[in-house]
Amino acid sequence: MSDSLAKQVEVLVVEDKKVTPTGEVAGAAGGAIPAAVAGTAGVDSAAAASATNPADAASAIDPKPKAKKAAAPAGGKVSRKDKKKEAASQNSLFLEPQPAFIDERIKMFDELKAKYDESIAAKERFPIKITLKDGTVKEGTSYETTPFDIAKEIGKSFAERQLVSKVNGEEYWDLDRPLEDSVNLDFLDFEHPEGKRVFWHSSAHVMGEACEGHYGCHLSHGPPTDDGFFYDLSINDGEGVVAQSDYANLEKCSTKAIKEKQKFVRLVMTKEELLKMFHYNKYKVHFISDKIADGASTTVYRCGPLIDLCTGPHIPHTGRIKAFKVLKNSSSYFQGDATQDSLQRIYGISFPDKKLMDEHLKFLKEASERDHRKIGREQELFYFNEMSPGSAFWLPHGTRIYNNLVELVRTEYKQRGYDEVITPNMYNSKLWETSGHWGNYKENMFTFEVEKESYALKPMNCPGHCLLFKSRERSYRELPWRVADFGVIHRNEFSGALSGLTRVRRFQQDDAHIFCTEDQIEKEIAGVFDFLQRVYGIFGFEFKMELSTRPENYVGEISTWDKAEKNLENALDKFLGKGKWELNPGDGAFYGPKIDIVISDALKRWFQCATIQLDFQLPQRFGLEYKSETNDKEHAMPRPVMIHRAILGSVERMTAILTEHYKGKWPFWLSPRQILVVPVGVKYFEYAQELQDKLSKKYGFYADVDVSGNTLQKKVRSGQLLQYNFIFIVGEQEQEEQSVNVRNRDIQEEQGKNDMVKFEDVVKQLTSLKESKRGDNVLV
Ligand SMILES: [Zn+2]
Ligand SMILES: [Zn+2]
Repeated sequence: MSDSLAKQVEVLVVEDKKVTPTGEVAGAAGGAIPAAVAGTAGVDSAAAASATNPADAASAIDPKPKAKKAAAPAGGKVSRKDKKKEAASQNSLFLEPQPAFIDERIKMFDELKAKYDESIAAKERFPIKITLKDGTVKEGTSYETTPFDIAKEIGKSFAERQLVSKVNGEEYWDLDRPLEDSVNLDFLDFEHPEGKRVFWHSSAHVMGEACEGHYGCHLSHGPPTDDGFFYDLSINDGEGVVAQSDYANLEKCSTKAIKEKQKFVRLVMTKEELLKMFHYNKYKVHFISDKIADGASTTVYRCGPLIDLCTGPHIPHTGRIKAFKVLKNSSSYFQGDATQDSLQRIYGISFPDKKLMDEHLKFLKEASERDHRKIGREQELFYFNEMSPGSAFWLPHGTRIYNNLVELVRTEYKQRGYDEVITPNMYNSKLWETSGHWGNYKENMFTFEVEKESYALKPMNCPGHCLLFKSRERSYRELPWRVADFGVIHRNEFSGALSGLTRVRRFQQDDAHIFCTEDQIEKEIAGVFDFLQRVYGIFGFEFKMELSTRPENYVGEISTWDKAEKNLENALDKFLGKGKWELNPGDGAFYGPKIDIVISDALKRWFQCATIQLDFQLPQRFGLEYKSETNDKEHAMPRPVMIHRAILGSVERMTAILTEHYKGKWPFWLSPRQILVVPVGVKYFEYAQELQDKLSKKYGFYADVDVSGNTLQKKVRSGQLLQYNFIFIVGEQEQEEQSVNVRNRDIQEEQGKNDMVKFEDVVKQLTSLKESKRGDNVLV
């Protein structure tokens, strides 16, 4: 009884979690921003550096640990030689002849399976009791009754929906695998996240089978991802590449496997047997040698001609897959390590229902139309150059958005008693030793030598703020001290992991640290919640909150933790209501409890941007203290608590999220192109110019005028494509009456010729729209 999802992940999937070698996070198939699970924002702390979960601190963008090394871009460079091979592979559905290892494997499997079946047949049969979730008890026989038998007793359609079962609340169990003893039994269908994982994991085997049959390739590993699965493989010892034109054939091979309703047959094998079976494949040999102890056993699963090293579990048979699609391919490295073999990665998606596939493809299409990299290019917002990977060049129009976001937060700072500061970008390594970064976070930092001393670019602002706090004696009267910093931050992401604005090396955060007394925690947290609501309300984001509490390896006093956690709970209850937030017991960082906030965009994708992190450790490492009210010389001065918080998170990543959320149709206040003035003919160029001049210089809008030789229709069309919020058409009558004819980007009925409006009136309306930060684009 050795199966479990965790182990499966260990053996077959090995490095799934730490690899994003293509730079396209697996979860983002078709979309630009890694979805949901992705993305911590950026609250940071020195102590976070040593947290076991790198998501706490490591990346402003993606909680997945860093990709180990760079990999070639998707598709890679295709040499002429490779092109020939591609062409060859298109010709036949199945490689002729099929690789010899396929039959060799089956022969060995059949022999061992016969022996295994004999041993099972020899097991003693005895009555067992199967207890279901609702308390119902079913009767069965050891080594005979399967979970699927039990599911059928519940109902035929119920049984057909279930993908896998769970035994005694911990062990995943194939539906067709006979139970060995009395158990508590639970069933999982596609709606269940783990059921979905099993489904996609099983689909990866089908992909592997198709690839072996089509290319005669050597499979490496094929894990499920957050939205589908992939398989890494090597074609002709790394010489062959996958072409988009292969997709149809791979889908045909997969469909054939699916139609055959191939059973996933499980077999336990020893390490020696496994090494023999997979001798032809160095990747599998590596996994076997590396992950299985000498003398130990694990399992393989067979479906059709494919026998794969895997601990399972799987769906009962491939016929459960009703829709299967190859989505994209890229290159990758074995174990994500650029010093190892270059592999081909093929991504796929599958569903137990065709309708779900249609919906998903629609979603992917919508997501790709919203891709911030695409819109960023079309609207000329930002640009990347290989001279500085992962660091965006903000073009003039992108800079307008960037500055507007910063200004939004800065305006709130003034209302909310934050002090903005500007702090250095590079610090002596001694500072990083004090903060703990040198020991725990060094590999994520850019380090260099200055006058024989080692320095590093800051990956976080917190240590600098601690120096500020310590720059002179502090009194309780100064607390809470809210220190805000838009400082430029650098984190050393591997070039292969970089992606658009969502995973970068250079970024700025709306970062702030609140130094306060323990008694002030609750009020400060409530203040941050109010701040969040204000900003996310403007964007129209829904949000959810999760509180993570004291882990086993905590630092600080237990009473301080208890009190702080109570404060956070109270603040959450007051803000969201009891039971309206999630609790993750024991999931906090070792240096303090935290609140994660995830937001959902227009496509209902979830992103983590803001985090509120309490920190009892950094003030201690920097020896921060303040004079208390009692000013008692007998006692040590108390330490402040530090609250790390960011609302936008990284401005870069937030711009990506907003670009996709709005689909490039920026709300007026944030828009880099607010008004385009279009004269109907040369005669009105001067009037148009005069309006543009007033709009931008006198009233401070982003206004342009089109005095090119293009037709009126073409001018309007290009203004629409650039998503100007308003296009002002001006001609004879407009000029005479100092008026304009307004076309509103977001209101269908106002696309054609409208009534004239006095220029001065429309300016008032524009000003009010800008000041209210409304997203409706309605002039009133
Ligand atoms: Zn911080
Ligand atoms: Zn498997």
